[in-house]
Amino acid sequence: MRVLLAALALLLPLSLPAADKPRVVTSFSILADLTQEIGGEHIVLTNLVGPEEDAHHFEPSPDHVRSLLEADLVVANGLGFEPWLERLLASSEARGKRINASQGVVPLQVQEDGETVSDPHAWQSLSNAELYVRNIAKALSEVDPANAKTYASNRDAYLTKLHTLLKTANQRTATLPASQRKVVTSHDAFGYLGQAWQLEFLAPVGLSTTDEPSAAEVAALIRQLRTEGARAVFVDNIQDPRLIEQIAEEAGARVGGTLYSDALASEGPPSTYLGMFQHNLDTLLAALKP
Ligand SMILES: [Zn+2]
Repeated sequence: MRVLLAALALLLPLSLPAADKPRVVTSFSILADLTQEIGGEHIVLTNLVGPEEDAHHFEPSPDHVRSLLEADLVVANGLGFEPWLERLLASSEARGKRINASQGVVPLQVQEDGETVSDPHAWQSLSNAELYVRNIAKALSEVDPANAKTYASNRDAYLTKLHTLLKTANQRTATLPASQRKVVTSHDAFGYLGQAWQLEFLAPVGLSTTDEPSAAEVAALIRQLRTEGARAVFVDNIQDPRLIEQIAEEAGARVGGTLYSDALASEGPPSTYLGMFQHNLDTLLAALKP
């Protein structure tokens, strides 16, 4: 009898929804890592913008479009970070659940070209990352209630690690003198990190990497660095380092290393979100310590 039922079940795959793992699509590498941590073996994950890639401008392939159409859940950042995804979802028949992992974040408002815009790089604060993790765990539980308990325990285990890193970050940044808190990065991706630990980030390129700074803007930044002094200048992992190297040279500042802004590394410690955060913290503090 049992054999017969098993055979029937094979003929009727629709009657076995539990055997189908939820298909989840994430928009970029940081969300992919957080979602995989919570979903573990219970989800099938497809990520769109990979490690070391720039999510500000992205051309989705036909395979990417297909994965969006088939997704049970699409996890995006929101806050205007993925305009290409908005367009794609609006023009497609995608029916899966859609969430913005940044939901609940208090957006940092930035002046750009005379307009007030929200800074999308909210994952650069660990407190915001906690909101991301909670939102992702909640959405996974909604599309796959059978595994809700596992998602909740994976979430709690991850948050324990995140809280440990947050505590160290608070302790280590607290010791920096006020004069050592000014840094320059390639594009304006570290506003939330600056807000959390009272660091002032200056950048020649705006919130999106699509903005090209004018020669006058670059010259103004170099003048500002010469007069106010910046401890260090950092390149970021998704952009051409040449502009930053030129600024450092002309301002008499040194390049303090690479910060991971909008994408994880392909390998090594910064290939996970917590590893990336630790790397950025270590790199910043090594350059800023008196
Ligand atoms: Zn960015």
